[in-house]
Amino acid sequence: MATVEARRLVKLFDDVRAVDGIDLVAKQGEFLVLLGPSGCGKTTLMRMIAGLEQPTSGDILIDGKVVTELPPRARNIAMVFQSYALYPHLTVARNIAFPLRAVGMPKADIRKKVEWAAQMFGIERLLDRKPRQLSGGERQRVALARAVVREPVVFLLDEPLSNLDAKLRNSARDELKQFQRKLGTTTIYVTHDQAEAMGLGDRIAVLSEGRVRQIGTPHDIYLRPADTFVATFIGSPPMNLVAEGKTWLGFRPEAFLPKGVEPTADGIVFPFRITRIEYLGAERLVYGVIERRTPETHVISKIPTNIRTEIAADEVYDFVVRRQDIERFDRDSGRRIDGGAA
Ligand code: ATP
Repeated sequence: MATVEARRLVKLFDDVRAVDGIDLVAKQGEFLVLLGPSGCGKTTLMRMIAGLEQPTSGDILIDGKVVTELPPRARNIAMVFQSYALYPHLTVARNIAFPLRAVGMPKADIRKKVEWAAQMFGIERLLDRKPRQLSGGERQRVALARAVVREPVVFLLDEPLSNLDAKLRNSARDELKQFQRKLGTTTIYVTHDQAEAMGLGDRIAVLSEGRVRQIGTPHDIYLRPADTFVATFIGSPPMNLVAEGKTWLGFRPEAFLPKGVEPTADGIVFPFRITRIEYLGAERLVYGVIERRTPETHVISKIPTNIRTEIAADEVYDFVVRRQDIERFDRDSGRRIDGGAA
């Protein structure tokens, strides 16, 4: 277990600012998720933490010690990438043992370690197989087992679940979280999938264009986004933004409901012209525009199906959002302006 810190970290590739001044701390034993759109610098940041990429400027610290100049093997970090990079000609047991053989650990100790890791990931019966005889989920577990045998102080996981189908992904996500809890190893996890980030992260760092926009618990990031980028990147559908003077009013679709559904003495009422209703089973997504507004302001309401309310497309209804569910953002900078820092 260790803390990992990035200080004023910058990485330029010619004129591309892949990482543009990142300050970040992963606390001891924490599961920290890096979330952001494609090209925002997630992988580059991970590679610098691992020592596979040299920063243009700034530092990486592990347990308070600067390791920026240290080679990858001296950092005691294990990485698992999207392509698990198992050796195809080696059995599962040999794959898992590989990092231990490389450092010359005695054979008897290696066997014990491999058995321990195989048991932890439930792959004891696969030890004699070759990677091509495994499913995607099994390969992922082998890659994780290989990563844990060295007892690294930090795990760096770069989209390790992206090769799995949706169902397997869900169970693999559960397992991963459990292993991480059991081992207590500080973990930094890259994804561009917000559901994965929400489900896995103790905290999430939202990145865009090489910078950290916000770091916080999934709850904070969802309910109190630091700016309009985070507000609209997180949540499906995203937060609604309605212009008002020099500010944006931001509210989640589930906070925007037909008048009368909830006691809303302290709410703002909007006349809402519905253009389309999508039935999703547990809820309805209601798309439309706020009446008499220029420029045209599109908003979405998410109504639980158990709220029975008669609404139809092409009609106008009063919809309400409670004041406590509204965030305000500066129109120019996009930063949240009410109530404290992120
Ligand atoms: P993705 O989710 O698509 O994997 P990412 O957030 O991991 O994206 P990076 O791979 O870190 O993003 O890339 C950040 C930026 O740096 C991108 O604009 C990318 O094109 C650029 N970049 C990354 N590696 C190199 C390189 N070796 N040479 C030049 N540019 C690079």
